[in-house]
Amino acid sequence: NCSLKTTTNHLRHVESMAVLPSGAGKIPRLNAVILGEALASEEDDLVFPSDDFARQALLPSAQKYLEMYKRSVEDPAGFWSDIASQFLWKSKWGDTVCSENFDIRNGNVYVQWFKGGITNICYNCLDRNVDSGNGDKIAFHWEGNERGFHDSLTYTQLLSQVCQVANYLRDIGVKKGDAVVIYLPMLMELPIAMLACARIGAVHSVVFAGFSADSLAQRIMDCKPKVVLTCNAVKRGSKVIHLKDIVDAALSESAKNGISVDACLTYENRSAMMRETTKWQDGRDIWWQDVVPTYSTICEVEWVDAEDPLFLLYTSGSTGKPKGVLHTTGGYMVYTATTFKYAFDYKPSDIYWCTADCGWITGHSYVTYGPLLNGATVVIYEGAPNYPDPGRCWDIVDKFKVTIFYTAPTLVRSLMRDGDAYVTRYSRKSLRVLGSVGEPINPSAWRWFFNVVGDSRCPISDTWWQTETGGFMIAPLPGAWPQKPGSATFPFFGVQPVIVDEKGVEIEGECSGYLCVKSSWPGTFRTLYGDHERYETTYFKPFPGYYFSGDGCSRDKDGYYWLTGRVDDVINVSGHRIGTAEVESALVSHPQCAEAAVVGVEHEVKGQGIYAFVTLVDGIPYSEELRRNLITTVRNQIGPFAAPDRIHWAPGLPKTRSGKIMRRILRKIASRQLDELGDTSTLADPGVVDQLIALADC
Ligand code: ATP
Ligand code: MG
Repeated sequence: NCSLKTTTNHLRHVESMAVLPSGAGKIPRLNAVILGEALASEEDDLVFPSDDFARQALLPSAQKYLEMYKRSVEDPAGFWSDIASQFLWKSKWGDTVCSENFDIRNGNVYVQWFKGGITNICYNCLDRNVDSGNGDKIAFHWEGNERGFHDSLTYTQLLSQVCQVANYLRDIGVKKGDAVVIYLPMLMELPIAMLACARIGAVHSVVFAGFSADSLAQRIMDCKPKVVLTCNAVKRGSKVIHLKDIVDAALSESAKNGISVDACLTYENRSAMMRETTKWQDGRDIWWQDVVPTYSTICEVEWVDAEDPLFLLYTSGSTGKPKGVLHTTGGYMVYTATTFKYAFDYKPSDIYWCTADCGWITGHSYVTYGPLLNGATVVIYEGAPNYPDPGRCWDIVDKFKVTIFYTAPTLVRSLMRDGDAYVTRYSRKSLRVLGSVGEPINPSAWRWFFNVVGDSRCPISDTWWQTETGGFMIAPLPGAWPQKPGSATFPFFGVQPVIVDEKGVEIEGECSGYLCVKSSWPGTFRTLYGDHERYETTYFKPFPGYYFSGDGCSRDKDGYYWLTGRVDDVINVSGHRIGTAEVESALVSHPQCAEAAVVGVEHEVKGQGIYAFVTLVDGIPYSEELRRNLITTVRNQIGPFAAPDRIHWAPGLPKTRSGKIMRRILRKIASRQLDELGDTSTLADPGVVDQLIALADC
């Protein structure tokens, strides 16, 4: 059973902050604190929520958080069942709310929450909201790639459309537990397809519609679906991408390996391509618009056990062979709903926009399930965030009066590079909460996001979590405590993070090391699909007794958590262990540096040297002087031991399709092992690699 092992260290720190009388001491009341570059001391770096914000916040104080947090770790069963009771369960779970073995030394690892409870997440997202009188509320606002193209669905309309797809799937023989592969762009049909699967108990596997035919084939062969749901093409920016051709290639590849599907349901996306020009395989391919509308808009729910699988999803592939992460129904439902509500201070009047694609976990938990479980109005955008110009995001914010805007550091950095004018020409006054996910956000990017985008008014929820964790793990609760730019702050309810050393020994207080978690939370992934052994080996063997995240982390004197990057990327310079995030953030703080990525290279004397790839702000020329200035910046901010040995000019950086810097490829370029670049299929733009190679000796 989940039990409290120790009270975590951060409590003491927050406690000491929490007893500060408001406005007292050296700590400034924020809002008006100037978050400029010249920060005198660490204390000035605290960014307080404004009084107005704190007054209306769901969690208005650190004390309130502390009360709830304490209960969540001392009595997880009571804490989470109280929350779970707010959802509809056909029948309640048994006496054991949570059972787990998180310690590999005690046998096989397993996690169960609400076992025996019978529910349906689609019912809770849709029917429950319609039944409670919110049927006419907008569930989705959809914005097309081209300005002027938009659409919307109310909760009632969304339910009808989901039911039609669900009835179609059932009719062609998809049953509870069967896998369905979804390869769709950000049309409303994508979450509709996911919800339809959930409604009938089928397990969806969404594959990001930017993946190649090979990657898609690999995922199809892994879960052997009866049906693939796709569309003929999509426009992203000025490019038309022929998705159906990619699916055709993937299906013939998997057929060669003995895996074939009964049907390929294809949505005709007329804004990108007409059906007449779409390649077709009779007998297998069916137009969505021809069949789905013929089905009833009422579809009986398949009631499932809380522990029945909901979906599988492959991790982004930043570090190697993708892993098929499996999430189940009940715990995931309760966890995504609760994290969404608190980390974004969600209110029913909010209009929420998350720029992530449903092909990633963020699009599962925080475009689809978390918001809909809360009855939220969600904006979905089909296109590229900088199309037709870098002001598009703020155009959309103003158009729909977006109040909560959730995005990734890669987009923040790129918009920052494009200049403030694209932001300030839009009002953005509807915004009240901002969010970040995917990579550590550099403090200078954080400040720009806060000052320029949010007009120094909106707290930033920098959410640390993973595909594996299902939902937020360490994240600010806006209004509850001051933030520090670049820190994900404190753990969410029920999450007990620990930092361990190389030997797996827990370190207390101010420290840095490997970020682990002791004991499960409801959104924990249950296994890697078809490979439980890899699940145990990857996550539970490195530090027995804990879930190992793979990330490095430090905790400062106030108990704030700072993610320092993946531990595989840590650089060891003359015995100093240096996280990539720290050096990159120092470089990015230079006003002429737009983006940076550092890796370690072999060094005769130091063991490893620091090799930095640097992208400059548009229009700034490369120069020896700038090179020296950048090195001096790092030297001054961190110390001489962290000064880069080499700066490599980079017009662009290799990134995964979800926008994360891929350091494993940069390491090969840095050490000139150019014939060992490895799998580059998950790169968003493989052309970047050639550019970097060409500039290697500049
Ligand atoms: P793979 O596991 O295949 O290498 P991935 O780890 O990039 O891919 P995700 O699950 O999408 O796949 O990303 C989770 C990782 O992203 C975290 O482990 C962490 O390294 C990074 N990350 C996410 N959010 C944050 C954040 N707010 N701050 C720092 N790092 C973050
Ligand atoms: Mg990962």
